[in-house]
Amino acid sequence: MLAGHYAPAFIAHRLVPRAPLWALLLAAQAVDVGFMLLGLFDVEGARLADHEPRLIVTAGVWTHSLPATAIWAVTCGLLAARLLGSRSAGVAIGAVVASHWFADLLVHTPDLPLGLTQEPAVGLGLWLHPPWAWALECGLVLASCGWLALRLPATARRRALGLGAALVGLQTLSEFVIPTPPVFGQLAASALAIYAATALGGWSVDRARGAEPTASPREQKQP
Ligand SMILES: [Zn+2]
Repeated sequence: MLAGHYAPAFIAHRLVPRAPLWALLLAAQAVDVGFMLLGLFDVEGARLADHEPRLIVTAGVWTHSLPATAIWAVTCGLLAARLLGSRSAGVAIGAVVASHWFADLLVHTPDLPLGLTQEPAVGLGLWLHPPWAWALECGLVLASCGWLALRLPATARRRALGLGAALVGLQTLSEFVIPTPPVFGQLAASALAIYAATALGGWSVDRARGAEPTASPREQKQP
């Protein structure tokens, strides 16, 4: 899953505005950042193909197993709570990190380990039906980003919607146009660039939001 992973981040930012959007967007892909980096050192890895499923995790215990997901979520949540000085922001970020596994569960073929070994593994396999996988991911992004945008001031709203549209475009290109990268290093480089660019997009929404706060009438009266 690519764009769909960002839906929990958009939802969490509407529910807990103290958690910065850039950090939530990064949290949504935290375990994939780990997977790509570990894959570059052959600690984890995937089999790539130009037919469905285009990616099968062959070694993913450290990042894509259920127990590892729990550890990643708690660690990132505690770290975020400390750095941001907000317990609710920490909980939001931890929950978004955990959401990655459950979103992957929908699309992956059975390659997500349930324990500390690669087998047994689970996955509901929506990737075998690309139009449905595409529709699910785009639907999740549009609904969640639209719901967040309703709460944002004008400039931040425009930027958030722009980010959502870019993610839908990216999903469309990666699903139907761009072929699977032939080697893992190429996949990792492009994935990491996408994760960084998306977080940067979130940061620009945060900035716009900070510059034009939606003040309550009571706050406006204060000198
Ligand atoms: Zn993943």
